[in-house]
Amino acid sequence: MKNNYSQPLYRPPSEAWSMIIQVTEGCSHNKCRFCYMYKCKQFRLKSKEEIKEHIEWLKPMYKNPDRIFLADGNVLCLKTEKLLELLNYIKKEFPNVQRISSYSGPLDLLRKSEDELKAVRNAGLELLYMGVESGSDKVLSMMEKGVTQKEMIEAGQKAIKAGFKLSCMIISGLGGTEYMEEHAVESAKVISAINPHYFSLLRLVVEEESELAEDVRQGKFKMLTPLQVLDENIIMLENMELTDCIFRANHVSNHVNQAGTLNKDKEILIERLKKFRESPSFIPTTFDRL
Ligand code: SF4
Repeated sequence: MKNNYSQPLYRPPSEAWSMIIQVTEGCSHNKCRFCYMYKCKQFRLKSKEEIKEHIEWLKPMYKNPDRIFLADGNVLCLKTEKLLELLNYIKKEFPNVQRISSYSGPLDLLRKSEDELKAVRNAGLELLYMGVESGSDKVLSMMEKGVTQKEMIEAGQKAIKAGFKLSCMIISGLGGTEYMEEHAVESAKVISAINPHYFSLLRLVVEEESELAEDVRQGKFKMLTPLQVLDENIIMLENMELTDCIFRANHVSNHVNQAGTLNKDKEILIERLKKFRESPSFIPTTFDRL
């Protein structure tokens, strides 16, 4: 039986132990200037037969998975009817599954009606990962994310209203030096308005394959220094107003590992960042490609 994962294959860090079912290939948007993930892939929906064959191949390796992640980029672009059929099939094949999750594009969330989203949630898709990246309209437009701040807030709020658990990601440094403060303040505004269950802060790492690499080489985009990243993180946290949101900044890209619950731990997290900021012995971890 052939291995029909189309590479490269991505999943959030918290899905490291999940069985990954590849339902689509690539990302239907695929235009964000900082993103290299699916540049080499033409977006396509896999056929029902391909998915079934893929599941048959996975079964002997995973037997009774309790967590399943649906890849690639934006599985919610599937027609609701197809998605419901798929979720029912997955639950029949893996009756012990406790959690099914996927990435979710904001525009896919907005395209579905509230009733459709509730039906998808009730069929078993529980956790959605939404890459907000930035809350600033200027930065979203500069990076060609294809979504406005208003749409991002609407999409996140709609997902939560439909009953999903929502994990939102912001990319630290995405405004460059020009929009550093705006990126921090507006991102805090969007995350606060959505009030997701989980909020992750990653740091921008520019990969050669991305369009942003060319902007950096031409001097059109200036990356933040490690100390500027800490300043930006402090401004972002100072402007966050969240309730019981699990916060993580513990990706390999982060200069300082942070974890806590917002807003409960907000002051402690800010003070910790300030201490690193002031410390003469602060040596940032470096995980940069350019
Ligand atoms: S960041 Fe997300 S939406 Fe943008 S191109 Fe990458 S996978 Fe697609």
